[in-house]
Amino acid sequence: MSTTSFASAADNREQTARLVRLSAHAWAFASDYDPNCGFIVGRDSVLVIDTRATPTMARQLMAAIRSVTPLPVRHLFLTHYHAVRVLGAAAFGPDIAVIASEGTRTWIEERGQADYESERGRFPRLFQGAEDIPGLTRPSVTFKDQVSVWLGDLEVQLLHIGRGHSRGDSVAWIPSEGVLFAGDLVENRCAVYAGDGYIREWSATLSKLEALAPRALLPGRGAPLQDAAGAQAAIDGTRGFLDALWHAAADAHGRGLDRRRVYEAALAALKPAYGDWPVFQHVMPFDVCRVLEELQEGCEPSVWTDARDKALWAELNG
Ligand SMILES: [Zn+2]
Repeated sequence: MSTTSFASAADNREQTARLVRLSAHAWAFASDYDPNCGFIVGRDSVLVIDTRATPTMARQLMAAIRSVTPLPVRHLFLTHYHAVRVLGAAAFGPDIAVIASEGTRTWIEERGQADYESERGRFPRLFQGAEDIPGLTRPSVTFKDQVSVWLGDLEVQLLHIGRGHSRGDSVAWIPSEGVLFAGDLVENRCAVYAGDGYIREWSATLSKLEALAPRALLPGRGAPLQDAAGAQAAIDGTRGFLDALWHAAADAHGRGLDRRRVYEAALAALKPAYGDWPVFQHVMPFDVCRVLEELQEGCEPSVWTDARDKALWAELNG
C-alpha cells in the first residue's frame, strides 16, 4: 500500500473477527485491528457492546453470539458515536434498548451523518452492505454519568467518566469480574485516532480507567487483554502515543512551522516508536490537525466531512 493512499482507502485485506472469552460472562469479538465489539451473556438475555459499521457486518457478530448462547439480545450499548461502531444496530431488530451517554446522543444528532460519510470514504472496507443501513442509530435510553444494567444478578455499569476520543466516550464495566470494554479510549498497539478527540483531557480519563484496575480489557482496536498487566500496558501505550503526538506537534507549532511542516515533524517524531502500528499513516493527519485546533481555537472539535478529509489529506500528503 502506498503511504499516501487516502486514509485506509487502499486497505482491502479482510479480517476475520474471532471470539475470545474474557470472563465467565464476557466475550470479545475481535479482529487484528478492525473495530472490536463485545457482548455479555446474562441469565436471561445478552447485552451487546458496539455493532460494527453495517447490518451486514453486524450479522457476523450476531452469528458469533449465537454460537455461544440462544438467549435474546435485549440491550445494545454504544461506547461512542463513530459510524463504524453504531450503524450495524439494525441487525439486532427493533426490540432492543439502545443505550448511550447524553454526549454520544448529542453528537449522533449533530454530526452522525457527516461522520458516516467521512468514515465510509476513509475506510470503505468496513462498510460492506452499506446500502442496508436504515439511517442513523439513535439511542432509546441515555445517561449522564453512569447507569447500571442488571442481567439477572450480574451488574454491568455503563460509565461516562471523562472525554478523550470523543464527546460522550463511555465504557462498560463488570465490577464482579473486573472486565472493561473500553471503546476507542484505549487501543492495543494500534495508532490512536484523535481527530475529533479531547487530547488534553484524555490522560485524566485514562487514569480513571486505571483506577478501576481491570483484570481484562477489550480495546477499541487490537487484541483483547486477558490479565491486569496487559490491560495496564494497553492503557500506557495509548497514553504514550498521545503524549508523543501532543508534544511533537505542539513543539513544532511553537517553533512557528506551518501545518504541513508540523505534520512532517510529528510524523518523523512518532515513526520510530509507532510507525508499525496499524492505521498509523491513516490517523496522523487528522490527529495533528486536532492538536493544532486545540492549541489555537480551544475545546470543541470541528466536524469532519468527506470534503474536509480529502482537502486535509491533499494539503499534508499531496
Ligand atoms: Zn472511534
